[in-house]
Amino acid sequence: MVISCCAYECTNRWGKLKEDGTKLKFHLFPFRKPDLLKKWIVAVKRESWKPSKSRALCGDHFAETAYKTSTRRYLKDDAVPSIFSLPSHLQKPKRERALPIRHPLPVVPKKFKSKILQVDVN
Ligand SMILES: [Zn+2]
Repeated sequence: MVISCCAYECTNRWGKLKEDGTKLKFHLFPFRKPDLLKKWIVAVKRESWKPSKSRALCGDHFAETAYKTSTRRYLKDDAVPSIFSLPSHLQKPKRERALPIRHPLPVVPKKFKSKILQVDVN
């Protein structure tokens, strides 16, 4: 059976090569660690969905910090996937909104203004 990634909108399959020519990693759901398994399922954010033992997530959903630092990339014992593209209704609202730009010109502190004007004149 071809293992494909079960993350939302991810079409990666087992054996796919990354841009650097290395094989994309796949990580089976951690059924041996029920607590961690729950975290993974929560992280996947798929409604009424449970993974089967052959379901996996591809390495795209794990931050660099989720891996143990060694020559081979192993997930840490408590690694949870954190990188997903999600439908808009499942995305967290962004706290910071881009403010409209009220000052199209850069604001110059008063004490520098006279100097800059002199430069312009010359
Ligand atoms: Zn994936």
